Amino acid sequence: MRNNVPFLIVFIDALSYGFFKKNNGKLININSFSYEYKLLPTAGYSSNIHWLLFANRKPDDLNYFTDWNIVGEKADRSKKNICLKSLSFIDKVDYFSDTLRIFLRYSGLIKNNLPFSEINLFENKAIYFFNQSKNTKYNLFRKKFLFIDYDKHKRKIGLIIENAKNEKINIFIFSRCLDEIGHLYGPESNQYKNYTENLFKCLEIILTKVLKEAKYNVILISDHGMTEIKSYINILKPLYLEFGYPGEDYIIYCDSVYLRVWSKYGCLIEKIRRYLSSIEIIKILTEEERRMYGIRKVKFGNLICVLKEGYAFNPNHFGLIIRKYPRGMHGYLDRSDNNTGLILANIKLFNEREIYPWDFYDKLFNLLI
Ligand SMILES: [Zn+2]
Repeated sequence: MRNNVPFLIVFIDALSYGFFKKNNGKLININSFSYEYKLLPTAGYSSNIHWLLFANRKPDDLNYFTDWNIVGEKADRSKKNICLKSLSFIDKVDYFSDTLRIFLRYSGLIKNNLPFSEINLFENKAIYFFNQSKNTKYNLFRKKFLFIDYDKHKRKIGLIIENAKNEKINIFIFSRCLDEIGHLYGPESNQYKNYTENLFKCLEIILTKVLKEAKYNVILISDHGMTEIKSYINILKPLYLEFGYPGEDYIIYCDSVYLRVWSKYGCLIEKIRRYLSSIEIIKILTEEERRMYGIRKVKFGNLICVLKEGYAFNPNHFGLIIRKYPRGMHGYLDRSDNNTGLILANIKLFNEREIYPWDFYDKLFNLLI
C-alpha cells in the first residue's frame, strides 16, 4: 500500500498498557489517537524486543537472547575469567555469596548472575537497537527517519519538528528512561507516574502543533509493560541441593525472570524439567513457543523457563541496580494489562486489538513502502 503521508512515531520504553488505561484522560486529552491496541509480550527483554519491532529480527536471527549465552568450546579463557572462576567456592557459600557478588559487581569484575564456576562458558554479544554503531544506525523498517532522543532533546523537540515537517520526512521520537525508573521504583511509584505525565504533556504540545499544521500519521508505541514485583525466589540453592553444583553435568544461568539450563545428558535435562515443572510460578517454554518467539537455538538453553508475572529471581543484578532490589520487572509472558505494551494511532493499523511485535513490523514496513 502506498502512503504519502509521513509518519511520526513516538516510542516509549516500558510504558505499560495497564498504567495508560488507569490514567487515560489524565495523560493525554487530544483526540488524535482514535485507535488503540495492546502489544503482546514476547520472550526476552528490550534488547530483543526492539529488534523485533523495528527490524523484524528474532533472537535466532540476532544470535543472542537476553544478552548472555553459552559459548561452548570457544569459552573465554581470559585472565580475568580464570581469576573469577577461581572464586567458584563462593557459589557454594550461601550466606556470603550475595554480599560478595555485589561487592565484585561494584568493583566492575562481574556484570551478571553467572555462577563463578561457569563464568568462562558465557558471552554477551547483545547489541541494543539504539546503541548500534554509526554505520548501521537505526535502520528502522528499512526506511529513513529523523531520530530524536526525547530525554536529551525535550526542550528542542518542537523546534526540530518545526524544521523537519516542511520536508515531510518520517520522524521517530524515542524515550528510554521510563524503563529504568520502572525497574528502580516500580510502576506504582510517583516517579513512574511523574515521568509519564511530563512526557505526555510534552507530547501533547508537539502533537497538537504537528497535527494542526501538517498531516502526519502518528503512532505511539511501547515495547512492553512493567509489573510491580511482589516476591523474590532463589532457585539456585534448591537446584544445587537437588542436582549438585553446576559446571560438570549441567550449566545454569538465571537472570531476573529467565532461567536456562544446559546439559549434554538428556536424562538429566528431563529430571530437571520435571523438577522445575513442579514449581507453580515457573513456566517452561514448549517447542512451539520457542519456534514462535524465535529462540530455538540450543545456545539459548536446553530448557528455557520464565517466571510468572510478579516474581523475580534472587540473586538479581539486573541492569544498573545493585544496591537494592528492583521494584518493577518485565519479560514475563503473561498477557495481563500491566505486562503488555501499548500502541496508539491516528490511523487504523490492525483489525485485531492484540498485536505481536512482528505484526507491528510487517504493518509499518508495508505502510512505509
Ligand atoms: Zn527493562
